[in-house]
Amino acid sequence: MIYSVWLTGLGLLFVAAERVWPRNPEQRLLRRGILSDLAYIIFNSEYLGIILGLISIELIPILGLQHLQIGLLSKAGFWTQFVAFFLIFDFLQWCIHNLLHRVSWLWQFHKVHHSIKELDWIGNWRFHWFEIVVYRSLLYVPAALFGFRGDVMFWAGIVNTLVGHFAHANMSWHVGWLKYVINSPEMHAWHHNHPDCGPMNRNFALTLSVWDWIFGTAHVPAHDPERLGFEGIENYPEQLPGQFIEPFRDLARR
Ligand SMILES: [Zn+2]
Ligand SMILES: [Zn+2]
Repeated sequence: MIYSVWLTGLGLLFVAAERVWPRNPEQRLLRRGILSDLAYIIFNSEYLGIILGLISIELIPILGLQHLQIGLLSKAGFWTQFVAFFLIFDFLQWCIHNLLHRVSWLWQFHKVHHSIKELDWIGNWRFHWFEIVVYRSLLYVPAALFGFRGDVMFWAGIVNTLVGHFAHANMSWHVGWLKYVINSPEMHAWHHNHPDCGPMNRNFALTLSVWDWIFGTAHVPAHDPERLGFEGIENYPEQLPGQFIEPFRDLARR
């Protein structure tokens, strides 16, 4: 419940910020695909966690994973855990985001996120539910290994949501030297660029951008990409039901 309140508050904050400091002043609030993205925000924020929680409660004992609860950091204080979470988990999520782009069947699911043609904060919520299954499955073992506290996960989730909204927002802010630390609209726009406009597979940052600078995948020209998307985006389904089915149709066609 309290996360829903934060989510609503952050959403309203970015609706206002995008009106005050628009990156693209021509972009309308009720842009194309907005209703579908509102459905995504409701499904992905409210129901997906419940469904995944129920699945894990059933699966963890079946797979015997409850014995993995080692909790290397479970006795550490809030701030130690919080910093460790960002250094360890954000890097692992950056690695998983790389996989979503580089493994062809995973890319079919991640394409849903890249089907957005005009970036705004709500676009942060456009992703296929299977993507979260991938993240959760690959992060379960490290989470059990380190034993992060519930309040650390909650506040880290709020920071991730804040930076994720900011990186997708239609906002003209430049972050200066902070571009070496956190993700931003100028950086993330080039993650969504169409192959016609420049190199692909750059800027995998979710919250911290530092990984892209360390591993040579950062690409932040002074101008924005002229077009977003991927090869064949013209024929990609524009609404949520079609986008949920499309990756499975693609896999069935192989
Ligand atoms: Zn991506
Ligand atoms: Zn994105």
